[in-house]
Amino acid sequence: MTPADLRLDEAAVRLGVVVEAPQHSGLLGVLDYLSATPLPPGTLVRVPLGRRVVTGVVWAVLPPSGEVPVRATEDLKAVIEVLDGLPALPSAWRQLVAFAAAYYQRGLGEMALMVLPPELRQLDAVQLQRRLKRLDKALATAPVAAPVATVAATAAGDSTGAPLPELSAQQALALSALAAGGARPFLLWGSTGSGKTEVYLRRAQEALDAGQQVLMMVPEINLTPQLEARVAERFAGRRIVSLHSGLTPAQRLRNWVMALQGHADLVLGTRLSVFTPLPRLGLIVVDEEHDPSYKQQDGARYSARDLAVYRAHLEKVPVMLGSATPSLESWHNALPVAEGGSGRYLRLDMPERIGGGDMPRVRLLDQNHVLKATMGQEPPPLSRPLLDAIAQRVERGEQSLVLLNRRGYAPVLHCSDCGWKSGCPHCSAWRVFHKADRTLRCHHCGFSERVPRACPDCGNQDIQPVGRGTERLEEQLAAALPGARVGRIDADVTKLKGALEAQLASVHAGEVDVLVGTQMVAKGHDFRRITLVAAVNPDAALFASDFRAAERQFALLLQAAGRAGRDADVAGHSEMWVQTWHATHPLYQALQRYDFASFATRQLQERQMAGLPPYASLAMLRAEGKTQEAAQGFLEAAASAVQDLVAQTPEAAGLMLYPAVPTPVQRVANVERAQLMIECGQRAVLQRFLSEAQAVWLAQAQQHRRSGLIRWAVDVDPLAI
Ligand code: ADP
Ligand code: ZN
Ligand code: ZN
Repeated sequence: MTPADLRLDEAAVRLGVVVEAPQHSGLLGVLDYLSATPLPPGTLVRVPLGRRVVTGVVWAVLPPSGEVPVRATEDLKAVIEVLDGLPALPSAWRQLVAFAAAYYQRGLGEMALMVLPPELRQLDAVQLQRRLKRLDKALATAPVAAPVATVAATAAGDSTGAPLPELSAQQALALSALAAGGARPFLLWGSTGSGKTEVYLRRAQEALDAGQQVLMMVPEINLTPQLEARVAERFAGRRIVSLHSGLTPAQRLRNWVMALQGHADLVLGTRLSVFTPLPRLGLIVVDEEHDPSYKQQDGARYSARDLAVYRAHLEKVPVMLGSATPSLESWHNALPVAEGGSGRYLRLDMPERIGGGDMPRVRLLDQNHVLKATMGQEPPPLSRPLLDAIAQRVERGEQSLVLLNRRGYAPVLHCSDCGWKSGCPHCSAWRVFHKADRTLRCHHCGFSERVPRACPDCGNQDIQPVGRGTERLEEQLAAALPGARVGRIDADVTKLKGALEAQLASVHAGEVDVLVGTQMVAKGHDFRRITLVAAVNPDAALFASDFRAAERQFALLLQAAGRAGRDADVAGHSEMWVQTWHATHPLYQALQRYDFASFATRQLQERQMAGLPPYASLAMLRAEGKTQEAAQGFLEAAASAVQDLVAQTPEAAGLMLYPAVPTPVQRVANVERAQLMIECGQRAVLQRFLSEAQAVWLAQAQQHRRSGLIRWAVDVDPLAI
């Protein structure tokens, strides 16, 4: 039916439809349309918008529904077609989207359309029908989900018939606490290898048995192929789908549709999966809940972990957050009020590793001692004792993992004659020297060039790499350990599809003696033969300006330590080496004792004194401009324009706007960036302030565009400061 066909002299229904409206348009994204018939909220429709036809979601039948005939004089456009064949999006989905839009200060339309599979926005009704038919055919031939009645048989073992492991005492305890239920979210705090995943799987089994759907979230699916395999193996009778940005648009649409239709039993996904419509949702799991990748860093900057907790509350289903090193926010939420926490979550502790394998012994290798031993000479890049320890492993046929969170060969090239350095012409950053393909590459904007043969400024032929990345570390290790097979895993090696899997497989097969890697290898992998983990340059985080740097570093080091000694027969002599100039730093001291709790207590004390999260709420007003003046100019104007609003907030809430400053890397791809921090002791007050301020800033941004403002955004609960 085309708009013209709609007989407007007949009674028509007025609908509020959300469409994608860019933030700067100032539109919330809810527009009125006419429809010949009432359509239930959640229905997907195609509507005219300007000269285009776009996909929208019916949000409301405007009151009083259908009773007041709307006449053509109102000049409303009509819905073009309904994307039928799909169930309407459930009301819980709409509530979640509405909450996220309001909380993260985005347009409702922008949020709603952003969280739909991208392809859904492109298809018209006929195309979608074709897709759905193909999907139906696939579903008919695929193995059917085990009906509830047969569950008793499968509960005795996994689908391959292998018996399930007998639960450890602490697993059994955690599961019974989960079964006892209660409305509070759970924080499962357990060391790596303590059997957290097994707890997720058992609890998921119960939900599946009860005919419910399970949403299992992980930080980055590509980094945890083992988990995907484990879930698939355990629930082979069920329909498991994954949802993450690595899927093709068609796969993503298919998996999402299966979830919406209720055909998928378990969704394994990354942060975007928190928005998957699930009509039978019965459980949400957020694994490695502390991981920063749960926070979307551009566009609508939402935290999937926090939304998962909200969603569970909304849909009255249990949510389980799991980690060995919980975020300090979650830790604080799981501390009883008597201990200074908020008492909102229930903490379940699993301190022991399965099989009793101890965590590796942590050895702090004090570089100051090394310096003394080398009579004041610069210590070698890898100290002798560490090299000896690795060599010992190689001899015994065991593996070592050497962690360095910086890829490339060297972070910068330098000419000692004239002082030239390999800066990026487009960013305020150095370009990294990559030896493998002899390029200088900017890790911020991607600008890449062949390495010059001589200094571009003075012609000196002898330009030198300064510092060290994983590529160089790999080279140094190979040189220092002749005969050892040295491998590397980082974003450069694993760019090609399947490369990560191949590289991991060769580690598992024992074809690598020493594995060099970035944080990528610290996560999730179950390496059986690693008995030594070394962090060779972990100190930078101790002095970073970002108040979360220490928390992140502790998590990374502990996670890396968890890669060692996973088999009991090697666990006894497993070690974690930390090469540091600050061996007495409390972070390392706590690490040495595996004492996350005391580390967290200390950090929380510091946060409380400084008025930082979780004791205060933050928002960051970010701006990008053609010049730094343009970016900061907007922020300063934005701050002064809301002085009245600030004055109106209760003094006790402590709402504070900080001065506008350049971001740590202030220029990226020729765009200047600045930020202004907003701090408030009360979340609700901050929320109210932001939504009122947003309207002021929208108007103001229009004027600043002329003076070079490119983009601006509010980042609520920012991770990167
Ligand atoms: P986490 O998720 O805490 O790192 P996992 O659930 O992956 O721990 O468990 C670590 C290892 O121990 C895995 O290989 C897992 O199969 C095994 N495992 C877990 N629970 C048990 C159990 N109750 N009995 C025997 N093995 C177990
Ligand atoms: Zn030079
Ligand atoms: Zn650059």
